[in-house]
Amino acid sequence: MTGSSSDFSRTMAFCSAALERIKAHRHPAYPRNYEFWYTYATGYNQALNRAVNEALQRDSVLSEPDLDLLYETYLSPLRLSERVDHVGARIMAELAEVAVVLKTAHGSSVHYTETIQRLAGEADALGEGGLELKSIALKLIDATSAMAERTRVLEEQLLSSHHEMHELQSMLEIIRAESLTDPLTGLANRKFLQGTLEQALNDALNGQRFSLLVIDIDHFKTFNDRYGHLTGDQVLRLVAMALKQNVKGQDLAARFGGEEFAIMLPDTALGGATAVAERVRRAVMTKDLVKRSTGEHLGRVTVSIGVATWRRGDSAQTILDRADRCMYMAKRSGRNVVVSEDDSRMIEDSGRRFAPDGGDGDVQVA
Ligand code: GH3
Ligand code: MG
Ligand code: MG
Repeated sequence: MTGSSSDFSRTMAFCSAALERIKAHRHPAYPRNYEFWYTYATGYNQALNRAVNEALQRDSVLSEPDLDLLYETYLSPLRLSERVDHVGARIMAELAEVAVVLKTAHGSSVHYTETIQRLAGEADALGEGGLELKSIALKLIDATSAMAERTRVLEEQLLSSHHEMHELQSMLEIIRAESLTDPLTGLANRKFLQGTLEQALNDALNGQRFSLLVIDIDHFKTFNDRYGHLTGDQVLRLVAMALKQNVKGQDLAARFGGEEFAIMLPDTALGGATAVAERVRRAVMTKDLVKRSTGEHLGRVTVSIGVATWRRGDSAQTILDRADRCMYMAKRSGRNVVVSEDDSRMIEDSGRRFAPDGGDGDVQVA
């Protein structure tokens, strides 16, 4: 069997296995999901396979958010680290070149010094010999101009190395920024938010307040099923834009995964954060969605928002959990609703349905 035909049968076997998984889990057959299950089928990424197997032991079906998370954890960083390795290798090569340049520079100056010393010795031995003196002077001049020429070449090489280093530094900066950005919406990604949350927790210990919103699009699966995933992606971009337009300064809007977003509000107490959440909710709800290509009206989408504020002893996880619980309460209260920690206490106390402003869309009033 030739190499390529054995590659063919092997990869077709992986392909079938990946498609089987996609069908069994009823995941959309996007390239990313295919890549995920294909990699699983090859077994090359042991950490991924272990994590998937553990998840499947807990639950026989892998949900899309689980897949998102596993992909983020075990696959996208791989690609990123490949790129970082590539840039790292270039930096190492560049440093090796600089080392050679410096060594040559050092060699030249040693050679120059030795030449001068030798000539000085010769001059001493000469006494009155005028001709010889002249020839020594000429040699000295030659040696000096050769040295100057070598220095000029070295300087040029160093300058070009410097430019190259600068370029590599900017590339690393871009890669770092990309690794913290959600490619679909351009918002910060979960990793960025998590890092910023950790920082905010430290600041909070020094007396700075902060609050967190968790935002989830309502009935987005139905929207996708009706209009298709690509249109769904456009809506994710629009919602992201609404978020961006309603935060400012040091606030941070992030895509947390799938159709979930979060906003971190430093130096903001619960009341202020709830007001921002209301603004975001209204901004999303008032967007009349039109498909540009066909002019088709797609109606509106709404979001449910949970709001939590920092408490002593909080970790990133505990404050996120509280905001998440409030968001689920908003879902249970009829969606298109903001629920803050204060509201959630009220709801728990009264055990009744809750809609802060009578709401729009599919919000039910108690
Ligand atoms: P709920 O109001 O309870 O939040 O209902 P939902 O349908 O929004 O929630 P569910 O968690 O059941 O479904 C989330 C859906 O979001 C599943 C998937 O169709 C969609 N989704 C997740 N990630 C993406 C994405 O990257 N692009 C698109 N277009 N859709 C996505
Ligand atoms: Mg949703
Ligand atoms: Mg969701």
